[in-house]
Amino acid sequence: MTSSASAGRDLFGHPRGLYVCFLTEMWERFSFYGMKALLFLYLTKHHLFSDADGYILLGTYAGLAYALPLLGGMLSDRYLGMRKSVLLGGILLTLGQLGMAYTGHAASGLPGQAQQDAFAVQVMYLSLALIAMGVGFLKPNISTIVGRLYPEDDPRRDSGFTIFYMGINIGAALSSLIVAYIGEKLGWGYGFGLAGVMMALGLVQFMLGQKHLMGHAEPADPQFLRQPVLAGLSREALIYLGAVLATLVVWWVLQTRISFEPLSQLLGGHEVTLTEVVAVVLGAGLVVWFLWFLGSGITPRERGSMIVLMVLIAISALFWGIYEQSYGTWVAFADRGMDRNTFGIEWTAGQTTSFGAIFVILFSPVFAWLWPRLDRLGLNPNYSAKFGIGLIFCGVGTGVLAFAIHATPEGELVSLWWMILAYALLVLGEMVLSPIGLAAVTTLSVPRVVSTMMGAWFLASAFGEMIAGRFGTWAAVEPLPDGSFDLAGSLAVYAATFTDLMWIGVLAGVAMLAFAPLSRRLTARTDTVPDGAAARDPG
Ligand code: GLN
Repeated sequence: MTSSASAGRDLFGHPRGLYVCFLTEMWERFSFYGMKALLFLYLTKHHLFSDADGYILLGTYAGLAYALPLLGGMLSDRYLGMRKSVLLGGILLTLGQLGMAYTGHAASGLPGQAQQDAFAVQVMYLSLALIAMGVGFLKPNISTIVGRLYPEDDPRRDSGFTIFYMGINIGAALSSLIVAYIGEKLGWGYGFGLAGVMMALGLVQFMLGQKHLMGHAEPADPQFLRQPVLAGLSREALIYLGAVLATLVVWWVLQTRISFEPLSQLLGGHEVTLTEVVAVVLGAGLVVWFLWFLGSGITPRERGSMIVLMVLIAISALFWGIYEQSYGTWVAFADRGMDRNTFGIEWTAGQTTSFGAIFVILFSPVFAWLWPRLDRLGLNPNYSAKFGIGLIFCGVGTGVLAFAIHATPEGELVSLWWMILAYALLVLGEMVLSPIGLAAVTTLSVPRVVSTMMGAWFLASAFGEMIAGRFGTWAAVEPLPDGSFDLAGSLAVYAATFTDLMWIGVLAGVAMLAFAPLSRRLTARTDTVPDGAAARDPG
């Protein structure tokens, strides 16, 4: 419908639409990660949230942002089509990011019991809800459009996704450097505002470039979508209205906690958030569906592959729980206990989050080369082994920070180089788990439920974010009456938390390595895919 004369022409060997998606997702991730780099600092320094509340909100918000793609993906498949979903998501995201720029006045008093600007805090919750909803509509759909731009057997598809993944990380790296700096140095509102402006430009760019999607992202049945169904409103209008209403529900869910004594005792005295309850219900529903599906007349090999996939998805939640410390406890540690001078500049705490994305950009070509090579040598580890290695790297990276604290003389700040090393190891873990996990979903899943399994993959990221929030509470530190932090005391808390997380990662990794031979038997002949390429049959 939207094709034009020039739409079919390629650019640098790829469909033009790829660059439209690349830039849209680059600016979306620019706004998402720039804002995320600032969020914990903003909550604890401006609105004077306690550390624990800050970590929990960071986790519940980011958890929702990864849970809602399940909804956004489903609505898009059935009704809206991907192009319209991306537009809707982009508008919600722009509003949310710009809403974050309203910061009201700073709280006064002690963190946790401070006098907050209640109106500004509500604007913030609403903005977070808009962003989570926007991600839900935009993120899954912009990724699926990339897949649609290539014919089924097009060999350029993998490199297309590699280019797209680079866009994600270029956006993340740039924003952690720029948005975090502006937010921390010039004012929170300017940082959030910049994230909003860039998201708006990304949206305009998508609107101008959408003709290059060549009609691949249109609704399945436009006529059905246009039909009036209620009070003269078409299905399409109702979906938009529903998205607005759902945003209001998310606004409420995000800030609602439930007193349930036995559970909060388990959670170190902190109340359960409604978001966590929703996630657990969704997760339980998924498990019930999965068990039913296993018994629903699939072949033993399909059953074996699905079991392995579910194990991989479940364990990925733990990986993200440790990995996402980088936006929580690592930022707090960088802010309060690190000498952030290096390369002749002083980095802000939020800017340190850029190291992860920079390492992804540096390592991506190496891994693109490594997997096919290992495969040729017959040394390519299977998915479970890769996940095991990923968890071990993630644990060891976290352990480096604990070691760094122990190795630094008392009273001194920890060198930033330790964090750079920790990020290098963490990202090595990410490279063998995150893109590999996406490939595993598309390879191990029974084809007719692949979208559901992709939703399950992101739901695991959502759990990971919430687990990260809870792990963060282990590292909550009380400030001194003047608002500063006792260096030795804080560092001891961080070292203890990082040591515990290291062991969790390493032990889970070892368990996955031990599971690898069984997983090979369960998946029989499909479990040796190098890097998302088509399934291969080694036997
Ligand atoms: N960093 C990747 C992205 O932003 C993956 C995140 C995840 O799945 N948790 O797209």
